[in-house]
Amino acid sequence: MKPNHKRLSIKWRLFIYLSIFVAATLLLLWLFQVVLLDSFYKAIKVENIKFSADNIAKNIDDTNTNLQELVKKIAQNNDMCIIVADETGKWLYSAEVMPGCTIHRMSLREFFSFVEHAQSKGGTYLEQSKIGNMKGEYHNNNNDRFSRIIHPPDRGMVESIIYTKLVTQKDGTKIVILLNAIITPVNATVQTIRVQLIFVTIIMLAFALILALIISRKISKPIIKINNSSKELATGNYNVHFDSSGYKEIGELGETLNYAADELSKTENLRKELIANISHDLRTPLTLITGYTEIMRDLPGENTPENLQIVIDEAKRLQTLVNDMLDISKLRSGVNELNISEYNLTESVRNILKRYAKLIEQNGYTIKYIYDSDVIVKADEIKISQVIYNLMNNAITYTGKDKLVIVCQSIESGKVKLEIIDTGEGIPQNKLKDIWERYYKVDKEHIRAQIGTGLGLSIVKTILEMHNAPYGVQSDIGQGSIFWFELETK
Ligand code: ADP
Repeated sequence: MKPNHKRLSIKWRLFIYLSIFVAATLLLLWLFQVVLLDSFYKAIKVENIKFSADNIAKNIDDTNTNLQELVKKIAQNNDMCIIVADETGKWLYSAEVMPGCTIHRMSLREFFSFVEHAQSKGGTYLEQSKIGNMKGEYHNNNNDRFSRIIHPPDRGMVESIIYTKLVTQKDGTKIVILLNAIITPVNATVQTIRVQLIFVTIIMLAFALILALIISRKISKPIIKINNSSKELATGNYNVHFDSSGYKEIGELGETLNYAADELSKTENLRKELIANISHDLRTPLTLITGYTEIMRDLPGENTPENLQIVIDEAKRLQTLVNDMLDISKLRSGVNELNISEYNLTESVRNILKRYAKLIEQNGYTIKYIYDSDVIVKADEIKISQVIYNLMNNAITYTGKDKLVIVCQSIESGKVKLEIIDTGEGIPQNKLKDIWERYYKVDKEHIRAQIGTGLGLSIVKTILEMHNAPYGVQSDIGQGSIFWFELETK
């Protein structure tokens, strides 16, 4: 088999997948860290300021809370300036953490304008504006009320958010909460992150390549090993061993291939045996036939019915042998389809057993058929008859000195069970599984079967499996064997 050069190796495929993963991760990072950072930051700041205002509003009526402390704490933690004032603009609580905060330098007029806006907007008002950078430049002389406006000079624009919230106290008086936060420009940060991300991209890609190399080596090593063993198997070396160490899937594949190699080697051994057996089986009757016919041709006195019978018997034996081989190859190749019909199984068995009458008469065999009533089944009559013939032939061949074979038919819960019982040597437990295999013979030196090709039970198995019929064998050494199968009754 030629290797397929058009396909990508695991290494490159993995590298591509990992690169896609890295690219997607970095893209997300770019998106969040660079493109959306500014708007995220603003949104968080706005949320923060609103949350802080709500927090103060919640505690405004609570006499247990030290509001000045709370306002200070919130201002410090969130880096924002806070003023809580009454309606007239008088500061009740104030916290100034940013130098140059806008609300602490607001004129009374501006204060009222914020209050008005808040009133018209249902109690809250958010204003976002660009202002000059006022770091530490200005002082408000008056530190308990809004006095005068002081505009700082324009030293780089910063964005400022002022949030106004109106709260009505229990006694009806109105309180104004003003919060002010500065949005620090993120441009410099974004620039830094951008450079960092370029480095990260290069490092991650190199890392992906190294990782792809390591992983692919780890993954492909056992695959390459199995591939090499498979190539050997393909050349006919069935003793090859597949390494089933490594990860689970490869382990399972290795085990499956070991099993397959084992089975192939078994079949190969059986095939070799069969050729030896069959050539022996074919040669014996052929030698007898040529021998006897030559004697009968050359010596007229030898032309006796007995000698002719030997020729006929041997020819029949050859015929059975050839038929068996043809049957099994046809069954296995699936050429033979089932021809299902309803028929009387009991009658069919009776007819089959009649054919053994001569055997009973001449060789002293006893064949008993035990049954209660006739039973109708739906099956392929010819094939099931072949099953019975094969089992009967085996039983007759292998039964004990009493030459007894019993066929027992029993019906139970919609099924008919046919048992073919002999009183022979039995089959060792460890061979019970193998006897159903093609060309298998338990004892090669065993008395020669009447029709012994080692194919009989394999034909039985194939036919019964085609019918989905349960079958099996029970055997005790020295006691005999019971071969059985079941069919659905009509
Ligand atoms: P064969 O043509 O050799 O009988 P089978 O496939 O019919 O081939 O049987 C396979 C082997 O199983 C036989 O060679 C025999 O060793 C064993 N066997 C089959 N039936 C019996 C039986 N009734 N008693 C003992 N051994 C049996």
